[in-house]
Amino acid sequence: MAKIDRFLKYVKIDTQSDDKTGTTPSTEKQKNLSRVLVEELKELGLSDAHMDEYGIVYAHLKGEGDKIGLNAHIDTALEVTGEGVNPQIHKNYDGGDIVLNEKYTFSPKQFPILNRFKGCDLVTTDGNTLLGADDKAGIAIIMNALEYFHDHPEVKHHNISVAFTVDEEIGEGSKHFSLEKMNADYAFTVDGADIENVDYENFNAQGVEIDIQGVSVHPGEGKGKLINAILVLNELINLMPKNDTPFEAGEDDGYWHMNDVNGSSDFIHSELILRDFSREKLVKRGQIILDSAEALMKKYPGISIKVKIKEQYENMKPYVDKNPKPVELAKAALRKNGIEPVSTKIRGGTDGATFSKMGLVTPNLGTGSYNHHGRFEFLVIQQFEKMIDVVIDILKI
Ligand SMILES: [Zn+2]
Repeated sequence: MAKIDRFLKYVKIDTQSDDKTGTTPSTEKQKNLSRVLVEELKELGLSDAHMDEYGIVYAHLKGEGDKIGLNAHIDTALEVTGEGVNPQIHKNYDGGDIVLNEKYTFSPKQFPILNRFKGCDLVTTDGNTLLGADDKAGIAIIMNALEYFHDHPEVKHHNISVAFTVDEEIGEGSKHFSLEKMNADYAFTVDGADIENVDYENFNAQGVEIDIQGVSVHPGEGKGKLINAILVLNELINLMPKNDTPFEAGEDDGYWHMNDVNGSSDFIHSELILRDFSREKLVKRGQIILDSAEALMKKYPGISIKVKIKEQYENMKPYVDKNPKPVELAKAALRKNGIEPVSTKIRGGTDGATFSKMGLVTPNLGTGSYNHHGRFEFLVIQQFEKMIDVVIDILKI
């Protein structure tokens, strides 16, 4: 089977997750791909391959030395449908417009990233769906690497642990993930874009809820009595640092971002997110909110302000700093394949960040696919194939 065929097979299986169902997996159809993968893993000699009750697939291949984990996610994003994916192959891309269908044209004028891949073979959508390269390219890279070791029993490799997880796109990829079942010393998520990337820095993240109970009286008789919750929130916002929102934040900066407000002059509920690569700076923003709430309650006796700060995810860098081996291994494998590795800061979270916090250091690798979560998603076949070689070199002894 040509290497790309596995990818083309997986993307045709609809595995879109759904943040409204409250179940795991959030959609039963994710298990359709899980079942296919279990069968294929068994064919490749990973005889313990199985799907658990949540749809997560685990499998192991015995080797020597370190136990290296590989992870990719089964589900696709919510923004665009994953039903009826009809991948289009464009051989030797000429650098011009690609007509996806009568409505959508994929143009390097709108997406200059295409200019980088002139002369490459691309896989795009037909304009009606997303492609699902995020993260079926990751799954196909892992499966192709396993196929290589199956076809080359003479090649020595490490112990390999594989986990294909569900519901990553709704932030629940690590919810039922079992470190015990994974059984690895360190791991990689294969869930990025550029293949030169070995990423191990991401945001620290907290969510904040602020509830303000004002004092309601008839406004006509409000003098000295009526305290408007909306105006109190306005004051609180004005106590937050200026130039510290997503609008101003540069590549290395965090921010505070108010993303929901609802209520009345009597009671108002608001939600914010705090993000930063530095834990210290993140905590400082939360402290400003707590201090401001205290100050405003002193200023306006009779009101109450409740602030709830919830941990969301953590930067994996401190964990990687303690165990840099996987990053060094990935960088060496990239160099062996003629690629100079780069590490960029991820302005969000990854499942690997949560795995790292759980005790399994898990940096992220690229897949050679771009424009995720939309109909202009595409895969560069040469990069995808190169990445298979890189993963094989990571696993080889
Ligand atoms: Zn992904």
